Amino acid sequence: SNKHSKYKRILLKLSGEALMGEENFGIDPKVMNRMALEIGQLVGIGVQIGMVIGGGNLFRGAALSAAGLDRVTGDHMGMLATVMNALAMRDALERSNIATRVMSAIPMTGVVDDYDRRNAVRYLDQGDVVIFSAGTGNPFFTTDSAACLRGIEIDADVVIKATKVDGVYTADPMKDPSAKRYLHLNFDEALEKQLGVMDLTAICLARDHEMPVRVFNMNKPGALANLIVGSDEGTLIDN
Ligand code: UDP
Repeated sequence: SNKHSKYKRILLKLSGEALMGEENFGIDPKVMNRMALEIGQLVGIGVQIGMVIGGGNLFRGAALSAAGLDRVTGDHMGMLATVMNALAMRDALERSNIATRVMSAIPMTGVVDDYDRRNAVRYLDQGDVVIFSAGTGNPFFTTDSAACLRGIEIDADVVIKATKVDGVYTADPMKDPSAKRYLHLNFDEALEKQLGVMDLTAICLARDHEMPVRVFNMNKPGALANLIVGSDEGTLIDN
């Protein structure tokens, strides 16, 4: 039963950078294992978990384009990077005995399943973790937008965005020591103040479909479990 959880179904967004740990590129297996452990705790109390993983630890279309590549090709490379991260996450989760499915917005027969919303919801109902890879499948979008899109499609209770800071701040807390964390924000405030929580496409999608977004620090051990049981972690953004 999930009587201890505030949420029945969540969409958890991890950036590619979160998987790097202390490295400069790629995936740190230690970080993957810790995340698998934390996700396993949620599965253990009956939370259904859909996930979107970014690709920024490997490739970003905008950065490749700045270096001279065709933007759309760069975005395709970025989306393929998210599939690699999803495979690594599935591996870590399954080594922790957590049944995991990977679906891709870009068909990749023999490697991962095709994205199919109805199948995804069936797997979630069975208690499997479902990782949605390859973003939205379209160039010029981000995995934050993919997280909001999939969250809305699977009717998640909340989109939970894991970052390196404790939430959304009045200024960059890494640069400005007087920066204060917002406990709560409206989407319109987030848009107006250009707080850089997520790109505008993602925020507008969440706002228009009334999908709350919670931003929290994944490097803080136990933070994910805390926010799932309703403690004050990070920043909640809603209408
Ligand atoms: N991407 C894309 N369409 C999508 C999602 C992602 O083209 O729907 C590409 C884009 O180039 C992006 C890269 O994949 O830079 C990696 O995703 P993102 O930058 O969102 O990863 P994160 O910053 O979360 O690690």
